[in-house]
Amino acid sequence: MQMAHPGLPEFDYIRPGSLMEASQFLAEHAGEARVVLGGTDTFVRMRDGAWKAKYLVDIKGLGETNTLQYSPAEGLVIGAAVTMNRVITSPDVQNCYPLLAEAAHSVASYQLRNRATIVGNICNASPAGDTTGACIVLGGVLRVHGLDGFRTEPLDTFFKGPGKTGLRPGDIVTAIQIPPSPDFTAGKYMKLGRNAIGDLSIVGVTVYGYPDTTVPSGFRFKIALASVAPVPLVVPQAEAILVEKPVTEATLEEAAQAARVAFTPIDDVRCGARYRKQMVRNLTHTALQAVWQQLSKKG
Ligand SMILES: Cc1cc2nc3c(=O)[nH]c(=O)nc-3n(C[C@H](O)[C@H](O)[C@H](O)COP(=O)(O)OP(=O)(O)OC[C@H]3O[C@@H](n4cnc5c(N)ncnc54)[C@H](O)[C@@H]3O)c2cc1C
Repeated sequence: MQMAHPGLPEFDYIRPGSLMEASQFLAEHAGEARVVLGGTDTFVRMRDGAWKAKYLVDIKGLGETNTLQYSPAEGLVIGAAVTMNRVITSPDVQNCYPLLAEAAHSVASYQLRNRATIVGNICNASPAGDTTGACIVLGGVLRVHGLDGFRTEPLDTFFKGPGKTGLRPGDIVTAIQIPPSPDFTAGKYMKLGRNAIGDLSIVGVTVYGYPDTTVPSGFRFKIALASVAPVPLVVPQAEAILVEKPVTEATLEEAAQAARVAFTPIDDVRCGARYRKQMVRNLTHTALQAVWQQLSKKG
């Protein structure tokens, strides 16, 4: 049985002078060094004895990690060290990516969001991460600095399992880049937790939509589900229905059913599998209706 730890175990706090120095240190100490940003996952897991890091490598301030920048041509760049509250209060995010602000706002409390980061939420790779779905449906791409320099990692192949990602020893995510959004978009994040604030999701549903004249229905929808599988799940079956058929109440209902059968959930401490499936159907349906209502008004 794991005993409760009375406090944080000892560790060395490392503050490298450059990204290359940080990558080299992390690679040389693979398995015993971790990147730390807000520390809201890291310190809890270390205190509980689940993670035993000898070194915490603070990368805040290195390279573009403090950048929060938007341009209509390039889209949005959110540096790794940018807190969720900074993202939520950014006028550019509110105007062009309100779905991201909504998802970030659902995370815990104001106090926690003053430390927690979007990139930390992604790198933690929890299937329950509240901002992951929005980042996926918005087409987010991670900028990664490793021993060989910079590369990009699309989010749709980044997650390998709970707590597991495509990052290699020495890798540091410096930012997430989100492409420019189409002229008219609508989005909705629906989170079911055991209480109104401060709880991880039992189910999280992200829906994003926009007009697209190249597809039969005239609209494209993206759907991502949290807390239903070992990794965040996109639902191409449901998205295809909404592309192929005229968007009506019956089509929204059919797509929500497709989301319900797209995964095989487990019973866990937060809820049973049957309840989880039913709630995915209900929340997907409600989120699709909300998005469609906005899109049809704009159209
Ligand atoms: C009380 C409480 C309530 C919470 N409620 C929610 C909630 O409602 N919804 C939710 O989604 N989450 C919740 N969380 C989890 C947590 O706040 C988020 O996952 C947060 O976004 C993590 O960001 P951070 O900057 O604190 O990450 P950190 O703890 O600093 O890092 C998290 C992990 O990512 C790795 N990492 C961080 N940055 C990088 C990088 N740049 N490159 C490579 N690896 C990196 C770290 O090594 C570590 O493994 C809660 C946590 C607490 C303590």
